[in-house]
Amino acid sequence: MPVLVMKFGGTSVATLDRIRRAAKRVGVEVAKGYDVIVIVSAMSGETNKLVGYVEETSPLFDAREYDAVVSSGENVTAGLMALTLQEMDVPARSWQGWQVPLVTTGAHANARIEEIPTDNINAKFGEGMKVAVVAGFQGISPEGRITTLGRGGSDTTAVAFAAAFDAERCDIYTDVDGVYTTDPRICEKARKLDRIAFEEMLELASLGAKVLQTRSVELAMRYKVKLRVLSSFEEMDDAAGTLVCDEEDIMESKVVAGVAYSRDEAKLTLVTIEDRPGIAAAIFGTLADAGVNVDMIVQNVSEENYKGHKGGVTDMTFSCPVNQVKRAEKALADAQAAGALKYDSLEAEENVAKVSVVGIGMRSAAGVAAKMFKVLSDENINIQVITTSEIKISVLIERKYMELAVQALHDAFELEKA
Ligand code: ADP
Ligand code: ASP
Ligand code: MG
Repeated sequence: MPVLVMKFGGTSVATLDRIRRAAKRVGVEVAKGYDVIVIVSAMSGETNKLVGYVEETSPLFDAREYDAVVSSGENVTAGLMALTLQEMDVPARSWQGWQVPLVTTGAHANARIEEIPTDNINAKFGEGMKVAVVAGFQGISPEGRITTLGRGGSDTTAVAFAAAFDAERCDIYTDVDGVYTTDPRICEKARKLDRIAFEEMLELASLGAKVLQTRSVELAMRYKVKLRVLSSFEEMDDAAGTLVCDEEDIMESKVVAGVAYSRDEAKLTLVTIEDRPGIAAAIFGTLADAGVNVDMIVQNVSEENYKGHKGGVTDMTFSCPVNQVKRAEKALADAQAAGALKYDSLEAEENVAKVSVVGIGMRSAAGVAAKMFKVLSDENINIQVITTSEIKISVLIERKYMELAVQALHDAFELEKA
């Protein structure tokens, strides 16, 4: 039997009624002759609640126990989905990650999938089971502890299963009917794309478009998984939604394909550090060891004898997710106490956001950065940090201007037009 993977996100399993609606869709695919692997997220809001419990209990939590807590939301929906399908006379059972077993690295809270054995589930398909419901987002480490795959990780579970089972398609059911030129919730002119290239989707996802987890796009690209994003709320035919595909399979190609934003950024500045070889390695090595995901970096101009310091000193500014600020502060303070680093102060600003424009066409088009900066300046938005790559430009700005910046850029690059 051909295998189909169907993933239902948090809003699509938010209530028993929604689970029933999702199960009906699964039933339709079973009736077409598929063996279906259903990947479920936790009910919407559930994971946030669990993360909140952990952070309140232990601000610099042990990630192994964080995983033990936050993985639990998916256990509930997996069991409920299997029960719902059974009530509809569709032979189904649930699997938690460890039962598959979906083996991951030991990088708790942000683990990578290493292996998905297929024998166990295939044996059940062989016995007449029609649907394997698997709890998304979770796995088991080589040490035998429960891991999670990072926020939004059920998308990655789904794509990994599609690759492991050589599925005909991986359908990601969510609360929007596809991938848009930007988040339709903050820009009403956002336009749904019929197709988007893997590389553009990868950039959009990594720059904050949470419609797909970044790693799920990476995996789909590597294993040539046919990946589709569609709505679980609307009736959809087989051609609906957005197909994430190779660049060559897209006719229309604009210089800028989309605008992404990330609200949860913080900007930290290490004030007066020595300007010497090895200083960046010392700072960012310390942060990496502490599990802080540093994104943008700027080293300021060095000054001789600044504030009476002998030799050159400078400031180093970097950004990281806002919920990692405490971790960063502690790691740097510990390094200073241990004599590995010296700085006068660490200034943290938590009111910033990152806005990015993405497009494969930028490889060959000049002037995109200049245009982006002009648009922001016309709106009187100050740019604090800039980073670029071949196919994206990102800026860090004050958070209160984030939506305005996204809308202005969407207009300026005429993304509402096909
Ligand atoms: P799920 O719970 O189904 O995994 P998510 O909330 O993780 O859903 O992702 C879907 C959300 O992603 C949408 O509701 C939308 O607000 C947001 N989003 C951000 N950028 C985009 C985009 N470019 N296209 C579509 N949705 C986007
Ligand atoms: N429930 C997890 C989260 O909210 C995983 C997911 O939904 O993909 O991050
Ligand atoms: Mg998601």
